[in-house]
Amino acid sequence: MIKRFIRRVFGLDAPGPQRVPQARHGVTRNAISPSALKVCDVLADRGYAAYVVGGAVRDILLGIAPKDFDVATDARPEQIKPLFRRALLIGRRFRLVHVMLGPETIEVSTFRAADSQSAEKDEHGRVLRDNVFGTVEEDARRRDFTVNALYYDCKSGELVDYHGGLADLKKRTLRIIGDPETRYREDPVRMLRAVRLGAKLGLSIDASTRAPIKRLAPLLEHVPPPRLFEEMLKLLLSGHANACLRQLRHEGLHKGMLPLLDVILDQPLGERFVTLALAQTDERVLADRSVSPAFLFAALLWHEVLAAWKAREKRGERRIAALEASMDDVLDAQSGKLAITRRLTATMREVWAMQPRFEERSGQRPHRLLELPRFRMAYDFMALRAASGEVPAELESWWRAFQSADAETREEMLLPDTGPQKKRRRRRRGKKPAGPTDPGAPPA
Ligand code: ATP
Ligand code: MG
Repeated sequence: MIKRFIRRVFGLDAPGPQRVPQARHGVTRNAISPSALKVCDVLADRGYAAYVVGGAVRDILLGIAPKDFDVATDARPEQIKPLFRRALLIGRRFRLVHVMLGPETIEVSTFRAADSQSAEKDEHGRVLRDNVFGTVEEDARRRDFTVNALYYDCKSGELVDYHGGLADLKKRTLRIIGDPETRYREDPVRMLRAVRLGAKLGLSIDASTRAPIKRLAPLLEHVPPPRLFEEMLKLLLSGHANACLRQLRHEGLHKGMLPLLDVILDQPLGERFVTLALAQTDERVLADRSVSPAFLFAALLWHEVLAAWKAREKRGERRIAALEASMDDVLDAQSGKLAITRRLTATMREVWAMQPRFEERSGQRPHRLLELPRFRMAYDFMALRAASGEVPAELESWWRAFQSADAETREEMLLPDTGPQKKRRRRRRGKKPAGPTDPGAPPA
């Protein structure tokens, strides 16, 4: 007893795994999805080690319903696959197995070693390939945070805690495993994960885990854009987007992803607009309602489009052409960093391009706008612009009423045709096509 006490005080205890029995940790079999249990049981029956691991175990301990379940095992992918009727090998270099049971997909991965010495790295220390199988201890060491390295043994019900994750959870602390700087250099995305998981789980980031982030933030520039996009999306759809973005900015991490965020948040209207968009998104995510990533990115970049649009109009470009060109400018500038997928940018363009059309409230135009497939999204976007004070609230209430009105009321609501004005404008344009002195109407 005394010996053990002395060893602990002098830090002589090897940080070996703590095996915590079922009765003392609170993760019951009931909390784990039947599919994940089935996968573990099948593997265990064949004599393999199998654990539920990662975010699911952590979330259950925090009383959060897990999004998905990951299983880690010492069986190799080619040994796992034949054990299940519907299973797919995923990935080329490091293969995982996706086991499909009913509507659920369980990701099964073979223990991996971090092997920091021999792993192939770029000149900043970023690991390019880590495809070495390893022991469960090595697998625990290569995970990012202590709270993510908790292994639930389905057979014994024990929780195996390799890096003090249970104690950190109790203290509500997010702590990286190993030397923070080395771990961030190996994979700079871990800095973003720290911010996201901290906000999502309500954990505070341990001081030494947090300390190097500001300095190492520029390393994000070397991360492949699709990976950044994936992480950014997770962050925005975490239900805590507002808190995450603010924290990102605070840590200087947004520069590699949304370099425009500084500019946007420094304009009072822009800040209000982005904050409202994120608050609305968080509310929807937390209420389990669907969220459109395209809408969200369109909102994040809107004030950048607006600024470019105004500048182009000032230079004399025609209103709609200027808007189109501004959308290109903003998306081009962003695509190098974040690689927003093409499918999203197409929708973002549609939503942006429809904005000036809300101002046209006479003749057939409102009817035509209403029929466009993206009308609803574009209207929601305009409503956000109104809520942030960018366009008059009256514009939004008009469109709200117009949508639900019957045909007769709609006719009565239409504003008088601005025909003569149009003619005048046409004549002016006719004289000086895209003339540099034509200021055009200010956007919205
Ligand atoms: P959530 O699913 O809530 O976003 P998560 O922690 O489960 O959070 P996943 O991306 O599902 O995140 O990853 C599963 C597990 O894989 C993590 O819990 C962690 O142990 C490990 N992991 C994920 N990304 C990294 C990384 N960049 N570096 C080291 N380990 C990682
Ligand atoms: Mg997960």
